Amino acid sequence: MKVVAGNWKMHHGPEATRAFFDGLNLPDDPSIEVMVFPPALSLAAALDATAGAGRVGLGVQNIHWETSGAFTGEISGSMAVEAGARFVLIGHSERRHVFGETDDEVAKKVTAARSAGLTPVVCVGEKLEERRAGRVDEVILRQLDCALAADGAADGRLLIAYEPVWAIGTGETATPDDASAAHATLSERLAERLGPRSGGSVPILYGGSVKPGNAAELMGAAHVDGVLVGGASLDPDSFSAIAARAAETTR
Ligand code: PEP
Repeated sequence: MKVVAGNWKMHHGPEATRAFFDGLNLPDDPSIEVMVFPPALSLAAALDATAGAGRVGLGVQNIHWETSGAFTGEISGSMAVEAGARFVLIGHSERRHVFGETDDEVAKKVTAARSAGLTPVVCVGEKLEERRAGRVDEVILRQLDCALAADGAADGRLLIAYEPVWAIGTGETATPDDASAAHATLSERLAERLGPRSGGSVPILYGGSVKPGNAAELMGAAHVDGVLVGGASLDPDSFSAIAARAAETTR
């Protein structure tokens, strides 16, 4: 099974969302799971466009940890669920490094996602200076441990996305060997913390400049259970092509 997830970031309003799903041509293959994270304002259009198809799981890109209140501009997990989301990205590098989200806030959001009934996709990844300083494992394990310390983190389904910050939106990709090594580190810690069975069932996705041309090689690497795609998920042809590569690697 491979997971192919698309993070649209702040792209595609409702009209562009409808056009995207009109153009999407996913392989009819039960061995791949596809999810899309549109902006929250485009979730209704995405739900409408995918109604009945059942092939695409929808999610939001962020939630607040409170259920409601005076938090102008924020949305809660329960609101996201009511609007049709099943998944939520938590701790994306742009949330951490552009908006200053901390490990503690990530943990609170994992708790909030769990209590709302959303499946969290927790993103971890090192910055370039951390990689150069040989601190990849230290950084990603600290981020993973904080997320796993959240109330209910281990209850139900959980996905992790390894996204080296220096590879996001830059055109630079981790080599399959580097991705594989980071995924192995995460996978080992998941097994230690959740037990071999539950830990082993947490998919670990790679993210960072994934495109149709490099998707097969990355998804073929050991411990890589799928991809989280930003820029290349905006175009239905390239996202469909990445899904097709995912289906091929499961054969
Ligand atoms: C992302 O936004 O999660 C991402 C990996 O972006 P990109 O594919 O554009 O690097």
